[in-house]
Amino acid sequence: MKIDIITIFPEICDFYFKQSLLKKAQEAGLLKLKAHNLRDFTVDKRRVVDDKPFGGGRGMVLKFGPLYKAVSNLSKRKAQSARLKVKRKVILFSPRGKKFNQKMATQWSKLDQLILICGRYEGVDERVAKYLVDDEISIGDYVLMGGELPALIVAETVVRLLPGVVGHSENLVSERITKSKGFLEYPQYTRPEIFTTKDGKKLKVPKILLSGNHKNIEAWRQKNSKVIE
Ligand code: SAH
Repeated sequence: MKIDIITIFPEICDFYFKQSLLKKAQEAGLLKLKAHNLRDFTVDKRRVVDDKPFGGGRGMVLKFGPLYKAVSNLSKRKAQSARLKVKRKVILFSPRGKKFNQKMATQWSKLDQLILICGRYEGVDERVAKYLVDDEISIGDYVLMGGELPALIVAETVVRLLPGVVGHSENLVSERITKSKGFLEYPQYTRPEIFTTKDGKKLKVPKILLSGNHKNIEAWRQKNSKVIE
């Protein structure tokens, strides 16, 4: 799988991609993550990506042209066999979009390519949402300064579903998948069994987890779970 992020701040994404499991997964050839500078797709000398909004108002708006060129160029990748079509989705981040969830991540993890467009400033020329992308996605009902954090959130949620990425814990992942294919998220504890605070409070681990009784532990986890679908 390849994830391409289009942004005017590629360094934000590059830094994150070089850490931890994302780095390992790329080194192992399981996926490609790349942040592209929107300015590389401009055609003017000054590499302008934004302009004033029609109708007036404050701030700047990302222009259609450079985003159009970026998406066209990044969509050129062909399938390995002529009979196959590249399974690709182009996403624009917007606070007005559909809210992102685990189900979308699961669907997108089966694609060959995900192209993520990060807005900035006052937003993006609406023709991008109308004619250039498959979906407009929000990560929640609040307004950020740009689409970079949303892109990293989506990339990370999708990537951890790819086979082999969460390392040797593939059993662990399947163990936590419910019949409805949701993830079972339950509370976790580690050593010490008792932590004593400065004022003498003893913070204990639930006894059941120390009992060694796997059936009871399983039942406790089910009871205290939230299913993420
Ligand atoms: N006035 C603008 C707000 C722009 S915020 C508007 O109503 O669209 C600048 C950019 O940050 C947006 O274009 C979008 O790409 C990104 N962004 C901000 N909040 C977001 C959210 N909750 N989810 C996804 N993207 C968001």
